[in-house]
Amino acid sequence: MNVRDGQEVTGLLLERGYRLTPDEESADVILYNTCSVREQAENRVWSNMGRLKGLKARRPEVVIGMMGCMAKAHRADAFRRMPHLDFISGPAQLYEVPELIEAIFEERRPMQAIQEKRRPRFQQVEYHAGKVTALVTVMEGCDKVCSYCIIPYTRGPEVSRPMAQVLEEVRGLAQRGYKEAMLLGQNVNSYGRRFSGEMGETGRSGAFPELLAKVNEIEGIERIRFITSHPWDAVEGLFDAMRDLPKVCEHLHLPVQSGSDEVLKRMRRGYTASEYLSALGALRQRLPEGAVSTDLIVGFPGETEEDFEGTVRLVEQARFDSAFIFKYSPRPFAAASRWADDVPEEVKDRRLQRLLKLQETISRQKDERFVGKTVELLVEGVEDGQGMGRSRCSRKGYFPGAEVSPGETVLIRVEAIRGHSLMGVRV
Ligand code: SAH
Repeated sequence: MNVRDGQEVTGLLLERGYRLTPDEESADVILYNTCSVREQAENRVWSNMGRLKGLKARRPEVVIGMMGCMAKAHRADAFRRMPHLDFISGPAQLYEVPELIEAIFEERRPMQAIQEKRRPRFQQVEYHAGKVTALVTVMEGCDKVCSYCIIPYTRGPEVSRPMAQVLEEVRGLAQRGYKEAMLLGQNVNSYGRRFSGEMGETGRSGAFPELLAKVNEIEGIERIRFITSHPWDAVEGLFDAMRDLPKVCEHLHLPVQSGSDEVLKRMRRGYTASEYLSALGALRQRLPEGAVSTDLIVGFPGETEEDFEGTVRLVEQARFDSAFIFKYSPRPFAAASRWADDVPEEVKDRRLQRLLKLQETISRQKDERFVGKTVELLVEGVEDGQGMGRSRCSRKGYFPGAEVSPGETVLIRVEAIRGHSLMGVRV
């Protein structure tokens, strides 16, 4: 979603005649698009922005902006911490960034665009980094109350983009040659429960499979992906859609976070480990060869050895294709930030390493299922003289021969796995 947000602002600025520069030294405007989800991500931004102090002293005319979730979360202290900052802009106000920059060029004073209300309309993105896949927002914000998470605060309550608008954007993308649409939302399963109102569409549940079916009809679009799903919301309709709609890729990202019922409860996830596993079973029944990835947090407040062993067991049972594993960090505005962050850092580290190692072994075993099989790649380009594309299960694949262009579909027979990439030959 942050990548998409960055593309939105890039597109708006390019439209006004700005150009991208290869380095900070030659830039007139330097923008940081930020993420608040973990402390480490924020620390990186503070330190990178801090480095710009010298540049700003030498070239005070350069406009420096902080966009996205950190701007919202740190509206009160951003200018104090970074006196060389010219503006901050929250994730719902990115469409205002070009005006803000123009105003700063004219008035030369710090500004901020942080509003409690959300954007008046969803913005269409005109700039995409590649030529094959386009990121498309279907909803903003989140109504879930996961106790560790800052997103409901930074991105606000959930609101869905009118279906007609999503379809219009995807049709335009197809006309411009894009082959793959990646539909984005904090929790796409609840798409449609509350529409933004601008087109008078009435809220209902189960609208996401309906949206997938309509995108599936758009000529020119060959693949559809989406991220992220919450296991709590009615997922069976979604699984049916994944099985029945030919363009929807067989990959689901379904964050589980923990395998301990106690921890899941305090995380306010709304499901138990066994409910999660039965949802997973329902998916695998429909798509036995499909890929499933997840997110896991270790070191949540009060997580005991026994809780952690529950997570280890769940990872062993679930056999994910891949997992993002994080050490818990308290986030302001999140409920859990009021609880003691009582798992020592070295214990968090040990648990992280153990899960990473376990998952790595499982990922390798799971990758082996592709060896000897024919896999469809959507070509993204040429890397080191080899064709490179992505499989429907989201693995990178390589094959000899550089005579391919982005957007082409090729079939390869997989001969080996390198890292987590599929190495094959064209068939
Ligand atoms: N709604 C999105 C959330 C994106 S945040 C989704 O479901 O994908 C991505 C992941 O960051 C979460 O799934 C969670 O595993 C992790 N995360 C969120 N808050 C965190 C925190 N305070 N500490 C550590 N990891 C966190």
